[in-house]
Parts: sequence; C-alpha cells; structure tokens
Amino acid sequence: MAEYAPDAAASEAERHCAHGNCKNKIYSTRKEGPRCILHSDMPDKAAKFDEVLLLMLANRDFNFEGVWFPKGADFEDFHFTANANFANAIFQGEAEFGCALFDGSANFYGAQFNFTANFGASNFSSPADFRRARFATRTQFEEARFIEDADFSSAVFSAERVLSRS
Ligand SMILES: [Zn+2]
Repeated sequence: MAEYAPDAAASEAERHCAHGNCKNKIYSTRKEGPRCILHSDMPDKAAKFDEVLLLMLANRDFNFEGVWFPKGADFEDFHFTANANFANAIFQGEAEFGCALFDGSANFYGAQFNFTANFGASNFSSPADFRRARFATRTQFEEARFIEDADFSSAVFSAERVLSRS
C-alpha cells in the first residue's frame, strides 16, 4: 500500500511504538527506537499530545504507563474513576494532582517528577504505589488522604517535601 511505501523494508513490529506492549502508531523515532505520541520524548509533541490526552480522559482510559508528559500534567481536582497507572511516567513540568480523587489504585511506581509535584488534599481510596518514584524538586502531599496502603519505599526526594499530616 502506498502509504507504507517508505517503511516497506521495516518489519511489522517496527511500525509500532516499541515501548513495552504499546502498539500505537509511531510519532517519532530516536535512538531508543520508534515511539508513539504518548511515549515520544519530543518536546514539540505538546499540542497533539494534549488532544490525545483529552480523548483518553474522556474514555476513562487512565493508562499512562511510561508516558512522557511534555509540559507536566494538570490533574487538579480530577476524578480518576478507575485505576490510574502512571508507572514510570516522566513529568517534564509541574505535576499537579492537587485535590485529585483516585477511586481505583494509583500506580506511580518509578515515576519521575522533574519539576514540582503537588498531591495536596488528594484522596486515594485504594492502594497507592509510589515505590521508586523520583521527586526532583518541591513535593507536596499536605492533607493528602490515603485510605488504604501508600508505599513510598525506595522513593527519592531530592528537595523539600511537605507530607500528609493525617
Ligand atoms: Zn507507545
């Protein structure tokens, strides 16, 4: 087919994002291999990324495993009505989860917060996994509420943190 002509020599697998089990279309190709709009680390993807993000949220698709957030993320007051998976996600800007509600599990295993991270007054109704998460700058969990277990083992806080008082 004509639209695949430039990739004629590539195998079927190489036409998809090479991140984990992701099978999304390729957005960019770097030395790590082809990546889709979610997993690409190209800063210029921001506008298109926002469109995809809004669509995912509308579909209650909260699988952000390994996603590279080009400008950080604004989930202030957001209600995650299903499991939220931010494992190994990278936030290249402020990660704003203030007052967010997590009904299902909240998986931030290995997430990298390269700018400020705000979870102030957020509410976790199910287990929260912050193992191996890396917080590069100011981190705020003040008045965050963990109803079930919250695991911060091996998490790295490089700067000031304000933790939950409850
Ligand atoms: Zn992908």
